[in-house]
This record gives sequence, C-alpha cells and structure tokens, in this order.
Amino acid sequence: MDKIRILPNNIIQTIAAGEVIERPYSIVKELLENAIDARAKNIDIHVDTLGDSKIKILDDGIGIDKRDLNLCIKRHATSKIIHNDLGKIDTLGFRGEALYAISAVSRIEIISKTEQMNTAFKIIVQDNNIIENMPSKGKNGTSVLVEKLFHNFPVRKKFLSNKKAENYYIRETIKNIAMSNPKINFNYYEDGKSKLSFLNFKNERNVKNRILEILGKDFYESSLLVEAKKSFFTLKGYISIPTYNKSSWKDSVIIVNNRVIKDRKILGVIKAAYSGLLAGNRFPVVVLSLRVPFSDIDVNVHPRKTEVSFYRIKELNSIIIKAIRKKLETSGLINSGIYEKKFLNIFSGENKEKYLQKKRSFFESYESFNSNELNKPEKISAELKKELDKTKTYRLGSAIAQINKMFIVSQTENKVILVDQHAAHERIVLEKLKSSYLNNNIERQTLLIPEIIKVDSNIKLFLNNKEKIEKLGIKFESYGEDSLLVRDIPSILGKIKIQELFDDLFIQLNRFEEVDLNGLQIEKLFSSIACHNSVRAGRKLNTEEMNNLLRLMESTPNSGQCNHGRPTFIELSIKDIERLFGRT
Ligand code: ADP
Ligand code: MG
Repeated sequence: MDKIRILPNNIIQTIAAGEVIERPYSIVKELLENAIDARAKNIDIHVDTLGDSKIKILDDGIGIDKRDLNLCIKRHATSKIIHNDLGKIDTLGFRGEALYAISAVSRIEIISKTEQMNTAFKIIVQDNNIIENMPSKGKNGTSVLVEKLFHNFPVRKKFLSNKKAENYYIRETIKNIAMSNPKINFNYYEDGKSKLSFLNFKNERNVKNRILEILGKDFYESSLLVEAKKSFFTLKGYISIPTYNKSSWKDSVIIVNNRVIKDRKILGVIKAAYSGLLAGNRFPVVVLSLRVPFSDIDVNVHPRKTEVSFYRIKELNSIIIKAIRKKLETSGLINSGIYEKKFLNIFSGENKEKYLQKKRSFFESYESFNSNELNKPEKISAELKKELDKTKTYRLGSAIAQINKMFIVSQTENKVILVDQHAAHERIVLEKLKSSYLNNNIERQTLLIPEIIKVDSNIKLFLNNKEKIEKLGIKFESYGEDSLLVRDIPSILGKIKIQELFDDLFIQLNRFEEVDLNGLQIEKLFSSIACHNSVRAGRKLNTEEMNNLLRLMESTPNSGQCNHGRPTFIELSIKDIERLFGRT
C-alpha cells in the first residue's frame, strides 16, 4: 500500500457530492425540496434529454436574497437551522449541501428574486466557483438550471446513457413528493412535453384527490382511510384492501413529518399487519403519513435524507399495526373490483369481437339441431322465489346455484355474485379459531379412534411445545420414538387428513425461532390449520348450506379475501352483464 496522504480538494468535493447526488433524480429531489421549503405554490420541472441532459426547476417561493446567492452554493451553508439546533428541523433541507454538491458535479445557473428586490439576480457556478454574477429578468421565486451533469465524474455518467430509466426515476420522485404536498401545483415536462401535472385542490379532500391522480382509480376505490392518534404521534393515510395487492412495495409511500422516506422496517411492520390476509410475496399499497414530535426523531441519519431514526420505535410500530389491523377487520366485505374488470375486459374492444365471432359460429352449428329445450320457460320454485325476495337485505345476496362443487352463485337486487366456497370457508374457520382461542374456548372433537401420525425426528419440536399446541385445540401424546398419537382436533375442521395437518404444522413451527404464540404466530399457525378444513371443500351444498355460508361470510371479519389475499367472492352488476350481451 502507498503512504497515507490527504486527498486534494477537488477529490474531496466529488466524494462529498457523490453521497448527496447519487444520480440525476437526486438533483430533482433536492431542488424540489428547496422549492417546498421556500413555500412555493407552483413548481415546474423541465428535463431535457435530447443532446446534453439538462434539468431546470422553477418555483414561486420566497426567493434568495442577492447577498445570499453567493453563499447558498457553499458547503454547509443553510438558512434552515435556527439557533444551531439540529433537534428542531421542520424543513426538508438542513444540511446546506445540496446546491454545493450539485455545483461540484455540474454547471448551474440560479436566478432568484425576493419580494423586496426590484430585479432578479443571477449567478452561474461551475466546479463550485461563481463564474458570472449579474442582474437578470425574473419573477419572484427561484429557478435553477443544471447542465453538464457529471462532466467531471465519469463513473456517474453512465446514468445519463439510459435516459428512459432515469426519466422513470425522476417521475417516481415527483409523484412521491407530490403525494406528500397536495397543496402545491406540480408540472413536469420532458423535452418540452407535459408529462405530469398535479394541480392542487381547493377543498379539504386534497390528499385523497392527489392519491386518485397518482395511484389511480383502482387504488382509490380499493383503499381504506386509517387514522390513529396516541400521545404525540398521529397517523393518517390510505391502505389497500388485501385483494388489491402488488408484487412489490413500489407504489407505497411513507411520509414522516412531510418527508418521504424509505424505511424497510416500517414497511415490514405494515406487512405484518396484513399477515394472514396476504401471501408472503404479495404487498399492499399504502400511503401513510406520520406526524412525530421533533424530539422523537433524528432526521440526520442519511446523506440523502431518505431515512429517519425513531426513538420510540416500539410504540410507533404498535400504533401502525393496531390501526391497520383494526381497519381491515372492521371494514366488512369490500371488493376491489379489479378481478371483475379483468373479466369484463375480455369482452370489450378487440376481444369482444373475437368472443362474438366464436358465439356466432357456435350458434350457426347449433341451429341445425333445432332443439325445443331452449323454448321451455324457466321454472322458479317457490322456495327460490322466497329466497330471491330476501336478497335486498343481504350484502352477498341469496344463493341460487352451485357450480362444479366449488362456486356458489348468488344474487342481490342488482348484482350477481360468485363465491369461492373453499376460500371463503377457510377464512371463516381461521377467524373462528382465532376468536375462540382468544376466549380460551376452542371446541374440540375427540377422535373415535386416536390416529397415529409419523413425525420422525421432528417429534422433539412437537413434544417441546406440547402445551402450546394443545392451546390450539390439538391434543396428542408421544407414541414410540417417531410418532404421535392424536386424540383431539378442533371440531370446526371436520373430517380431515390429520397427517397432512401435522406436516404443515411442523413447517410453520419450524420457522419460528421460539414458539411463544404471540399475535403473529397465532395468525400463521391458525392459517395453516384452517386450510385443512374439510367441511366445504369440493362438496355439494344445498341451498340452505350455501346461504349459511354466505351469512357466515357477512358476519366474519376479513372474509372478503382468503388467507393469501385472493378474493373470496367477485360480483358483477346487472349493468355489467347487460354490457356483456351488448345491450348497452
Ligand atoms: P439546505 O436546503 O439544506 O439548506 P441547499 O444547499 O439545498 O441546503 O440550499 C442552501 C440554501 O439556499 C437554503 O438553505 C436556502 O436558504 C437557499 N435556497 C436554495 N434553494 C432555494 C429556493 N428554491 N428558494 C429559496 N431559497 C433557496
Ligand atoms: Mg436543500
């Protein structure tokens, strides 16, 4: 190794700048934050990708005084830390590094005017030096133009080559920031063309409207408002119902005191709140805004300010989990409608033509049979009619048929509903087990003939946790070196394959470091037990049984989705059905 030496200034600058400005979108983020801190009401963002990349951001905020213009590009120069107190930061910026870092890796031109100034003033900065300084034209507010990006930073230049990807990140950055600032107008242009435009709403439904604009109608209609308040923490936001789920957290936004952060731990807590409602590789979409006292967080933990550290993280986690869980459990049967939409799309546009073509050719070949069957009037039994009359009052209507021993067809006044009987029953069993566990009264059935289950060397895990497993309604004892004798199982499961139940139970138990039946473990254990219910899986049901299942669904929390986040029912309005037949 060579001798130790202090690095030359320009290298020190580039290293420091590299931490703040990771790639082009970081510039957009920093400049947007400055405009927001300057209390701008309108912010325009221009990105030029043709030729040399350029980024320009204009705001109508408070502006920068002529004297401060020379200072703002210096390292650690900021107007935002008051009384040198890092503990009281209510602005997005505070490190006084962004303009310094940007000017270390590019050429920038800042034009600014405060209300007090008669004319705007302009500076041009390159490699941290002001190379021009003069009066200029300009309205109240600030514009920052960034050019020659990474001209002296070859390893980062690669980001400029994939403009599509970079523009995508820029758009995502703008969307996130717009989500946390619904009162500001944002306009984004790529090569002069308007690509995003978020205009403020004058009424109090600001946040929800901005979410509608950014995350779209499907999320808007599939989300629930959550609100919670405890000591000085407040939480407010929208969470998707479980059947509206995605393969990543990409669309989710966590905002802490107006700052969009990326926090794996908080996302983990949110995922935990959905446990039992979503499969492991599916994620809800959430927009959550937290307000936390200054004294409870440290915002100064990341060079790009994308993380914060919470001092009372446990308390916060419990507020988040409880608020989400409660909301999901009390919201009843909501349907995201996205499955129905996919289905209906099959019959629209080009697809519709194909479908009609098929139908026509079917009937052409059918006509030659000239069947009288078709002309027979439909018979409606008195019993069915009675059931149909009741439909107005039930959310899931009255059962009218069963398909393939798997699906129940029911009807309400203006909807036809299809229920996946197994998925629905699985959820009902799970919720029933959970609530009876909490009340300490899981009903057990004693097997007529105790069953011998082979568990090999896993026997230790079962015996070590015997008492805890018994609390789940399963009674067993050891039987030789590698088997168990099972005497009781929860009654609600009916007649099931007990060996399979134990195989699955082992997989779950083995995942826990220690079995201590906390809320999450219970959820997981019962969901692996519940999928062994036999009662309605692939069974023919009579009308009464079907209606009973529908009524149970209506009274069971979370029964709109199975344990993996798939819907337990879908519904089509009579209007939709009319559309299918081309009547509207
Ligand atoms: P920080 O935001 O951490 O203070 P910056 O380097 O981003 O650091 O900005 C330095 C200073 O320049 C800010 O503290 C602020 O006073 C001023 N400034 C930067 N951008 C703007 C703007 N768009 N409007 C008004 N003032 C600005
Ligand atoms: Mg800043």
